[in-house]
Amino acid sequence: MSSKDWIEKDYYAALGVDKSASSDEIKKSYRKLARESHPDHNPGDAGAEERFKTVSEAYAVLGDEKKRREYDEMRSLFGSGAFRRGARGTGQSGGAPFDVSDLFGGGGAGGGGDARFGGGGFTDLFSTIFSGGGAGGAARPRGPARGRDVEAEVALDFTDAVRGVTLPLTLRAPGVCDTCHGNGAKPGTTPLACPVCHGAGVTTRNQGSFSFSEPCRNCQGVGTIVEEKCPECHGTGGVTKTRTLTVRFPAGVADGQRIRLAGRGEPGDRGGPAGDLFVHVKVRPDELFGRTGDDLTLNVPITYAEAVLGTDLRVPTLDGTVTLRVPPGTPTGRVLRARGKGVVRNDGRAGDLLVTLDVVVPAKVSDEARAALETFAAQTPPAAREHLDARVRRFS
Ligand SMILES: [Zn+2]
Ligand SMILES: [Zn+2]
Repeated sequence: MSSKDWIEKDYYAALGVDKSASSDEIKKSYRKLARESHPDHNPGDAGAEERFKTVSEAYAVLGDEKKRREYDEMRSLFGSGAFRRGARGTGQSGGAPFDVSDLFGGGGAGGGGDARFGGGGFTDLFSTIFSGGGAGGAARPRGPARGRDVEAEVALDFTDAVRGVTLPLTLRAPGVCDTCHGNGAKPGTTPLACPVCHGAGVTTRNQGSFSFSEPCRNCQGVGTIVEEKCPECHGTGGVTKTRTLTVRFPAGVADGQRIRLAGRGEPGDRGGPAGDLFVHVKVRPDELFGRTGDDLTLNVPITYAEAVLGTDLRVPTLDGTVTLRVPPGTPTGRVLRARGKGVVRNDGRAGDLLVTLDVVVPAKVSDEARAALETFAAQTPPAAREHLDARVRRFS
């Protein structure tokens, strides 16, 4: 006998007594009905045998003060008949007495494979059935649930990240199937109580003096069996839902940044507030420019002659060009700054373009160049290395 049996079966009706009947009235009625339907008095009458079973099962519960109280409690909690649709008698009686606390406290047993209802234990299963079945609000008191937060990743072009960009963002998230409302059954049909666990979603195994509860293998812990599958979700009760949001990325959004869009996550349950959407930003590197905060960076090779003599350099910016003055005698590695040519924030603050000069040494020179350079060398004082030469002498 299972919780499901208790919820589905009206034992008072089976014994033809009122809910308020005394234990004597119940006993009297049971004896009369059992006598009438007893197989010994009705040989070969299958209907009578079925009635005898029903009456015996009812009396096994109502004839026991403790079980009757539990039965009454459960029926009042779940509302009589709430599960009658689609329920199927199992014909089983006897077995372990069901403990009401199993139903409400049994978080340990549900776990795992209950994908159909979002991974909760069977408390969730029942509340889901309830909200779908329209029975009174006697189940777990629970306020409207806030929708889940959603994480998404987006890759932006370097230039888009610097200037800001508005992009459609397509989100794929698991959702409840609209066709079957998550129960996995073809519209017009109803999932049946699992005949193995009788809808509890768990089975109990006894081993010596221990007993183990485990998710029912027949129904994967769901408690119901879908005979005709929903064509939309193929019986899983879930579908992948796609939604497209338009997201505005502000100028200067950085690689690795996490942007929170309040209320753009999954919608809440029963009018609860929506969750948040967190967008992880990746910025694709640019082939020319680098970025440090709001400054853009650029490396510009110059010749030794340009470094020595000075020159005007025309370099690209993100949206044009700028001419920079390289003064005579500029050392390699010097950084020139083009003000305001970096990231321009929406409030008008702007970073700079930082140009790093890189004096390149030619691997080969012409004979004329070599001769000119040798003349140059003869005219040039040696490099300032005295401080190193002093140290070198100590070792020679
Ligand atoms: Zn089962
Ligand atoms: Zn479906």
